[in-house]
Amino acid sequence: MSSEEQVELYAKRIPIYPRSVKGRFRRLKWGILALAYGVYFLLPWLRWERPVGPDQAVLWDLPGRRFYLFDLIVHPQDIFWLAWLLAIAAFLLFFVTGIAGRVFCGYFCFQTLWTDVFIAIEKLVQGERPARIRLAKQPWNGEKIAKLGGTHLLWLAVAFVTGFSFTMYWGNAPELAVAFLTGQAPFAAYGATFFLMTTTYVMAGLAREQVCTYMCPYSRFQAAMFDKDTLIVSYDETRGEGTAGRAKVGKGLKTREERQAKGVGDCIDCGYCVQVCPAGIDIRNGMQYQCIHCALCIDACDNIMDKMEWPRGLIRYTSEHALEGKKTRLLKFKTIGYGLVLAILSGTLVWNVASQAPYDASVSQIRQPLYVQLSDGRIRNTYELKANNKTTSELDLVVSVEGLADAELETGRIEVLAVEAEKSARLLLQVIAPRPAGPGPSQRDFQFVLTPVGRDDVAPIAVDARFHTP
Ligand code: SF4
Ligand code: SF4
Repeated sequence: MSSEEQVELYAKRIPIYPRSVKGRFRRLKWGILALAYGVYFLLPWLRWERPVGPDQAVLWDLPGRRFYLFDLIVHPQDIFWLAWLLAIAAFLLFFVTGIAGRVFCGYFCFQTLWTDVFIAIEKLVQGERPARIRLAKQPWNGEKIAKLGGTHLLWLAVAFVTGFSFTMYWGNAPELAVAFLTGQAPFAAYGATFFLMTTTYVMAGLAREQVCTYMCPYSRFQAAMFDKDTLIVSYDETRGEGTAGRAKVGKGLKTREERQAKGVGDCIDCGYCVQVCPAGIDIRNGMQYQCIHCALCIDACDNIMDKMEWPRGLIRYTSEHALEGKKTRLLKFKTIGYGLVLAILSGTLVWNVASQAPYDASVSQIRQPLYVQLSDGRIRNTYELKANNKTTSELDLVVSVEGLADAELETGRIEVLAVEAEKSARLLLQVIAPRPAGPGPSQRDFQFVLTPVGRDDVAPIAVDARFHTP
């Protein structure tokens, strides 16, 4: 035997077979899951009538460079809303995590939602936890092949529907679905569906808790957002262990009074909280970064406490301060600060979206030549105006000049610039103005003002420009 011991660099994954559990948190999680799945899978099929444009309520129209979200149409120039949204999501995460720990992980994260469904499928095909452990240990035979094969087939089916639904957001869903199923869809549709199907199958079916433990950075930096007042899923060690530790129910340890007389705590060491844990940890060992705060161990322990007819809450949402007998202060300077920033960011985003101009315009000067001197001595500059109509109806615009003394505007024979719905239009503008007094070249700033015709609901806008004189 070699004197050097071989050390494994990677720990082998110990498979987890979570036991199912009933309870208020499990019901809440099923409710959130049903809502999230309903929205995700049905939204691409929801129709939405618009005067122009697609009649799909939510659509990422890449070729048309538009994102349709019910009555809101997001254009590429509105991309800063995305940055705003990401900032809001970050502060929401800080705010919620500071108060209630990893509630996002436990209830709303895609990984948690899809893993829940994959575990439910596993249970449906293979049975409850003991049956699944038995099946994994038994040698390969017809039953094992059928049950494991059936599980993986159903996982693949859910993964496919997940990828397929994602793809439906990027085109007119009914048409794209027919094209997809008849082999007529663009390659990108098959590529996106296959990619998401594969990642869903691997992450929710095969990797599961390892995604949260090893791949997700959030579990690593959560500790920085927790403090002693944060509500976390905790085991009440004082109550559970007493002075003599935990002990199973046995002779002389059946009632609470008997146990307390012997210093034994309320934990009957049944292991139910460990068996239901999708992360495969024992909450009685204290806070661990693998814990996603799904609260299923609370349901499990509450069920046991109910059976024993003892008070619930041996495992519960509480803070370190509360466990030490101190007061929990949920609203602290830090959380109030996060909340304020969150409110300001959300408010300004809503205001910005609600008050966005239904059209915009830009002006570029024609520089060859930069100016022309007319026979009467006046100077002419030429500009190209581009107006974008973001609304779903035609917009008629009248252009005028402001801030340039004695200026005259020529727009050819076009008196009103008609911009079709969801389209842009260009117009050549010639501005003629007298030379200012004094020698040498000059530059004067002025504005083109665009005024919608017959639209009291749409305000005029001004676009800056510069007038050059030799
Ligand atoms: S310890 Fe409890 S809350 Fe944490 S992951 Fe496991 S079951 Fe969920
Ligand atoms: S479920 Fe409750 S009683 Fe059972 S082992 Fe866990 S903490 Fe102890």
